[in-house]
Formats: sequence, C-alpha cells, structure tokens
Amino acid sequence: MKVSGGGRCNLTHACFDIVEMSKRYPRGTHFVKKTFHQFFTKDTIEWFKERGVETKAEADGRMFPVTNSSQTIIDCLLREVDQYNVQINMQCEVKEICSEADMFVLQTSTNQKLTADYICIATGGFPKATMFEWLKNTGHTISAPVPSLFTFNLPKHPITQLMGVSVADAMVKIAGIKLQQRGPVLITHWGLSGPATLKLSAYAAIELADKNWQFDILINWLPEYNEHSLKEFFYNFVMKAVLNCCIIKTLLVCHSGFGNSF
Ligand SMILES: Cc1cc2nc3c(=O)[nH]c(=O)nc-3n(C[C@H](O)[C@H](O)[C@H](O)COP(=O)(O)OP(=O)(O)OC[C@H]3O[C@@H](n4cnc5c(N)ncnc54)[C@H](O)[C@@H]3O)c2cc1C
Repeated sequence: MKVSGGGRCNLTHACFDIVEMSKRYPRGTHFVKKTFHQFFTKDTIEWFKERGVETKAEADGRMFPVTNSSQTIIDCLLREVDQYNVQINMQCEVKEICSEADMFVLQTSTNQKLTADYICIATGGFPKATMFEWLKNTGHTISAPVPSLFTFNLPKHPITQLMGVSVADAMVKIAGIKLQQRGPVLITHWGLSGPATLKLSAYAAIELADKNWQFDILINWLPEYNEHSLKEFFYNFVMKAVLNCCIIKTLLVCHSGFGNSF
C-alpha cells in the first residue's frame, strides 16, 4: 500500500454509476455489480471521511487522500485493526485449509493450527495455477491465471524506428477477435505501449493467452475518420494547398511585375 498510486494511494475512482463502473471489470462485471450494491464509491469516501481521512478527485477521476500520502491510508487501516483487536500474523503462510466438525482448520508454515467459523481468503493473485493448489480443499473453482496489463512486443518491426512517437487518439484492434481500445498509443523501442495498448491487453487477456501471445495488431491511426471522410479531408487539404500555391505564385508574379515597373 505504501507504494500504491506512486506513494499517494489511488483509493477509489470518482465514478458513482454502478453499471458504468462494473463495465471496467471485463471478467467480473456481474460479480462486482452485486458487490457494488453493498458498498460503492460513495461508501468508500464516507467510510474514510468518518475516520478522519478526506479525499479528493483529480481531473481523470482518480481519488487520493488530500494529504497525497499513502501513509494516511495505512495509518487509518491500522487504527481500525487496533480498535477491533485484529491480530496480524507476519511471516505466517497458510499451507492448507480443511474442515473439521463444522469448523475450518488452517495449517500454517509456522506449524500452528488455527480454527475458524468463517474464513475470508484475500491472498491476491498468483502467476501459476499450481500456486492455488492449497485452496482446492475449499471446493472453489480456480480459473487459470493469465498475464494482464502488458505492452506489445514487436521484435525487429520497422515501426520501432519511430520510438518515442506518441499518438493521442488511435484505435487498436487484435485481428480475429472483437475487442478493441481507443486512446493514446506510444511507440517504444520494443513495440507498442500507452493506455490503449495496456487496456486492450487487460480486456483481451484470456483471448491473447489462447493465442499464445502471437497475434496481429490492426491500428487505425485516424479513428475519427472513415474512408469517405478521410478522402474528403485529403481532397480539401490538397485543394487548399494547391489554391495557396496558386495565390503565392500570383502574388510573386504580381510582386515581380511591380518590381519591373519601378
Ligand atoms: C506498484 C503498484 C501500485 C499500485 N497502486 C494502486 C493504487 O494506487 N490503487 C489501487 O487501487 N491499486 C493499486 N495497485 C493494485 C493493488 O495493489 C492490488 O490490486 C491490491 O493490492 C490487491 O489486493 P489483494 O488484497 O487482493 O491482494 P494483495 O495486496 O496481493 O494481498 C494479498 C496478501 O496475501 C498474502 N498471502 C498470499 N498467500 C498467502 C498464504 N498462503 N497465506 C497467508 N498469506 C498469504 C500476501 O503475502 C499478501 O500480503 C498497485 C499495484 C502495484 C504493484
């Protein structure tokens, strides 16, 4: 948490529409929608406010504590932990979860046996499916993890010679699948990056893993135009340029004509 949000902790987003916010979770839309009805952005802001943490929204919707320090959030959560006498066991890995006589029994790496009526598993993600093995006893279905939020590597592609060029508005598509993302694209020395690329890698994470990350990318560098409007734009552009040339030529001719008469 200390390093989150560049040390400021981007604790929520100024989006107050549950449907809109749910769409941002492509593989969990329905799940988060249900959860958001229980606790949403407004509740997060109020929860922290009630505990003395004021928040502010930035122009792009990201919300931070007004102190601009993630330590404010850490301190707030630790105060809450103290208030409810929550015990934190550091360096203590849960190795196995079993159920015995209507109770959960947790076996830890420190050779402790903990019993509980309820357990909440919030262990974050793991890069490999095998790392979820210890959870199998709980009966949950484990989806194989795939990478997300990555840039596109285009080894030796000539476009990399344009490294450093950033295009404010482009449409990035993956050939053969319906997903696409529009927004800023950055050309780097290894391929493509920027918000549109990163978002597309997240939305298409499963499809790209199925393709073993070998795929063709289609980029529309002028997404605000279609074939017809682009032709019209070029025509007008060329016509204007030709007209300007004619005017300049005429002026030059006139000018040299005057010159001669003086
Ligand atoms: C550099 C960086 C900046 C970020 N900034 C932001 C931000 O500003 N805002 C934001 O919303 N998100 C941010 N994120 C994403 C955010 O950190 C994660 O989405 C979030 O931490 C996920 O929370 P979690 O509780 O699911 O998992 P985690 O934070 O990964 O916590 C899981 C915990 O479970 C423990 N654990 C794992 N296995 C076991 C086990 N078998 N037994 C016991 N304990 C176990 C782990 O050690 C860990 O402490 C950032 C991420 C990074 C890397």
